[in-house]
Amino acid sequence: FLSDTAAKVFVAGHRGLVGSAIHRKLVALGFTNLLLRTHTDLDLTRQADVEAFFAAERPRYVIVAAAKVGGIHANSSYPADFIAVNLQIQTNIIDAALRCAGGAVRKLLFLGSSCIYPKHAPQPIPESALLSGPLEPTNEWYAIAKIAGIKMCQAYRIQHGLDAISSMPTNLYGPQDNFHPENSHVLPALIRRFHNAKVAGDKEVVVWGTGSPLREFLHVDDLADAVVFLMDRYSGLEHVNVGSGKEVTIKELAELVKEVVGFKGELVWDKTKPDGTPRKLMDSSKLAAMGWEAKIPLRQGLVDTYNWASASGAYLA
Ligand code: GDP
Repeated sequence: FLSDTAAKVFVAGHRGLVGSAIHRKLVALGFTNLLLRTHTDLDLTRQADVEAFFAAERPRYVIVAAAKVGGIHANSSYPADFIAVNLQIQTNIIDAALRCAGGAVRKLLFLGSSCIYPKHAPQPIPESALLSGPLEPTNEWYAIAKIAGIKMCQAYRIQHGLDAISSMPTNLYGPQDNFHPENSHVLPALIRRFHNAKVAGDKEVVVWGTGSPLREFLHVDDLADAVVFLMDRYSGLEHVNVGSGKEVTIKELAELVKEVVGFKGELVWDKTKPDGTPRKLMDSSKLAAMGWEAKIPLRQGLVDTYNWASASGAYLA
């Protein structure tokens, strides 16, 4: 893959958090024939449109970073959208990749997330924990669609020999993240809150929960690096976890964001807000054994993300 820089590569979802990082990475690596379509150009939920696109363009490589994503609130409000839209997008793309005349597609990579694993999976979570227990009910609609995507890649490999692989990233952050005040994940939420408190000259910033839960964070540029690594080197049946292997407590994260943003006041813990699961860490030893590791330290990734968010001001307003 890495030496095939003139090949057509379709990055589905190139404007999202993950897809935009993969786009940047491929440009940096010298890929010259990237196929990019916005939602208006190509509606990935329309099977006939996706088939026509594949027939006309015949991409050699396909990366499926397009998905309907959102936090706990969005998942519980729009369960039908989360299951249906994600199933449609991934089914249309994977199937069109197979049917593309003359076997044009040499390799496809499907992206999921750590929420595919059971609520009470062992920590760190190995790939083998898939389908070993009940899911977290709040995002099971999204999770079921993503599990179906992994299984579809496996089935198409077994029955048709399509070189389709899947990778499951841990909690991601970076440019293009969602900085919504209530609906975002902890890292962008804290960047925004500390920034606004600094600008307003506030003395305190409220952080949710007790601060004791442990989380693993991976910068999207590291994920993009892992994606091209897997496109180049991996052709297995099983999906591959992608994590940083580094855990921090929410308290440590909050102190770090405070320092990076330059807020001088105090942290106040709102213990009426839920902590969520006490620990969430992927077992990324399979990828490590292949020779890949994350490179961006959390502090540097936070500086980078804060700079991006400040430059695109709307996210901090
Ligand atoms: P989770 O990893 O699925 O639990 O997702 P979140 O990123 O929403 O939350 C991670 C942890 O950060 C939880 O323990 C939250 O209570 C804590 N947290 C602290 N402050 C915030 C905040 O402002 N927003 C969010 N989303 N979580 C926060």
